[in-house]
Amino acid sequence: MNRTDTGQDDQPAPGAVVVGAGIIGLACAWELHRAGVPVAVVDRAGPGSETTAVAAGMLAPVGELDFGEADLLAMNLRSAGQYPEFVASIERCCGGVVGYRRCGGIHVALDRDEAGELKRSHELKLRMGQASEWLGPATAREIEPGLAPGLAGAIRVPGDGVVDPRVLTSALVEALESERVPILTGRAVESLGRSGGRVAAVGLEGGAEIEADVVVVAAGAESGRAEWLPDDVRPPVRPVKGQVVELKGDPERPLCSGILGSERVYLVPRPDGRLIVGATSEELGFDRTVTAGGVYDLLREAGRLLPDVVELEYLGARAGLRPGTPDNLPLIGPTAVPGLYLATGHYRNGILLAPFTARAIAGMVTGETTDEPVAAADPRRFEPSVSGTP
Ligand SMILES: Cc1cc2nc3c(=O)[nH]c(=O)nc-3n(C[C@H](O)[C@H](O)[C@H](O)COP(=O)(O)OP(=O)(O)OC[C@H]3O[C@@H](n4cnc5c(N)ncnc54)[C@H](O)[C@@H]3O)c2cc1C
Repeated sequence: MNRTDTGQDDQPAPGAVVVGAGIIGLACAWELHRAGVPVAVVDRAGPGSETTAVAAGMLAPVGELDFGEADLLAMNLRSAGQYPEFVASIERCCGGVVGYRRCGGIHVALDRDEAGELKRSHELKLRMGQASEWLGPATAREIEPGLAPGLAGAIRVPGDGVVDPRVLTSALVEALESERVPILTGRAVESLGRSGGRVAAVGLEGGAEIEADVVVVAAGAESGRAEWLPDDVRPPVRPVKGQVVELKGDPERPLCSGILGSERVYLVPRPDGRLIVGATSEELGFDRTVTAGGVYDLLREAGRLLPDVVELEYLGARAGLRPGTPDNLPLIGPTAVPGLYLATGHYRNGILLAPFTARAIAGMVTGETTDEPVAAADPRRFEPSVSGTP
């Protein structure tokens, strides 16, 4: 960086620049810094101001497991296993508690059709070697007494966890700032400088440049329309809109103790009494409107699952854009441009996959051996020279 351009006169020129300060960019900066790489973060808005601020914060590799997602499961499990150390490293530097909990989840069938579907999901989890316990209605209601009386069956997934993404983001920012890692906000990256083919700088809105021999693109749903990236490495990321509703109850008398899910909705309790109800899934481009229909559907389904939610205070609703990819796997790793890395496309699992992604990127940048499951996330699988597509 031309130091005078950014006002960071006392900072050394960074070796790596991370574009995007959502959960993925901040986590990458954290692990790069911990690995000894000089790093700066740039965000066009503020840290955690986009999709990360909307996420429910489920860390649910097993509860959210779907058919045909063995590679994703391997990454999700690895990341879930890395969460305690990741959180502890941040808490040591931020002077607060991030609120990570392994509370488990209960997934419920509300009628006989749903019970058939849930049985298939239960069998899939067992086949993939994961812990899943089939519960009759009475047992499910013993564990979570607020569940709808007429439920047809349930499964318990004991290993899943939760974190509040907004608390985690603030803690990461505090930890990075305490380590004097520069975070530039309100500055969009608009160009990529190259020298002899490899990355040399990023250009910011307004004309400033930051020198960098490594650039990590963590721009979430925007990554797919980042005009500043060369065409052949711009990732095929598309926005998938999701709406969530936030309710509030008495923290001393929470309506549920862990994640609750049905076929159409999930509920995530926060320690301060809030309850997050998620989520819609809509292919509407970059539309971020909160709609009456979205809120209505979520509240109706939440009430079918946990009838007392209708008594809770309504705090509001949010919409965010999941960075979706053609194969539902993220893009983590180098591109055809030397020095340019992608850390994007995390779709439904960006909060869960933050530690795994960050460690993988730090390992690749420093030349350490990389974690085996990350091979399936290699961005070059979509580049023309690899896939053979024009
Ligand atoms: C309703 C909903 C519920 C979800 N629930 C969960 C969940 O329970 N568990 C889970 O694991 N995941 C969940 N997700 C998914 C998760 O939120 C995302 O995968 C994750 O937040 C993506 O993080 P990110 O850092 O890649 O993107 P973002 O948080 O969107 O951050 C990208 C950042 O890049 C910046 N940026 C973009 N372009 C530029 C540029 N040119 N220059 C500078 N900065 C730029 C933006 O300002 C933004 O801050 C959910 C998503 C939604 C929508």
